[in-house]
Amino acid sequence: MTLGFRKVIVVGLVASIMLVANSQMVASWMDQAGLISAAQTIRDNFLTGTAITIILALLVLLVRPSLKTAPLLGRCPVCDQRTARAAAYCSECGSRQ
Ligand SMILES: [Zn+2]
Repeated sequence: MTLGFRKVIVVGLVASIMLVANSQMVASWMDQAGLISAAQTIRDNFLTGTAITIILALLVLLVRPSLKTAPLLGRCPVCDQRTARAAAYCSECGSRQ
């Protein structure tokens, strides 16, 4: 973690704390700007259809992984012994897989 990344984290934390501390003011500003009513309209008109579409797309896209792409058994690169794919070390020679 670099020093610049730490500075970004600190600045982000300070900004988020200030935002949470002034949440009522932010909410009233959003209400005056019309964002609350726009969000209510979007939620009433589009949320149910979008959620159903996403759930159906996930049901179609989530397929059972085939055994060819994720075999349960592998081979040790050192001694060519058959090993379990989940094992971190070869049971025959002890080399890391
Ligand atoms: Zn081995």
